[in-house]
Amino acid sequence: MIKQWIINCNNAMTRRRHVHVHVRPEQLLLLLPHCMQWNGCIENLKEDVYLCKQCGHCSIARMRELAEKYQVRCVVAGGGRRAIAEVRRQETSAVVAVACEKELIAGIFATLPKPVLAVTNSRPCGDCCNTCVDPDRVEEAIRCLLENPGETDGHI
Ligand code: SF4
Repeated sequence: MIKQWIINCNNAMTRRRHVHVHVRPEQLLLLLPHCMQWNGCIENLKEDVYLCKQCGHCSIARMRELAEKYQVRCVVAGGGRRAIAEVRRQETSAVVAVACEKELIAGIFATLPKPVLAVTNSRPCGDCCNTCVDPDRVEEAIRCLLENPGETDGHI
């Protein structure tokens, strides 16, 4: 509960900043955990999320769809070191991150002072295996940070 409270505080502060923190699509990073990929999938998403064939077996298919729709950079990170390297890249001005509470809190502190909206995953198969996320929450976070998210109804 304390971890979720810290995440909620961060998100509230980021949303309050959002009038000053609207970024272009190429400046927004959608950061996903490797455990979101179905554990039977053979695609090397750590190399390139667009290798996902969108078979729909896991949440990555919807995340790829969102990345294409909003033209944001999307990375599937195999670990904390890669995630931190991606958020610290010069072209990254804001981040939408999906992970468990523990990883999100570590990521929020590693990302400061860049704004990050953190979306907690769900773990129906237990920790670190076939994790899921509500795509509507991710899309809402993307639209919150983009300077011109378009006129769509917010649904893919
Ligand atoms: S949706 Fe993409 S990442 Fe998930 S199992 Fe299918 S091909 Fe693999």
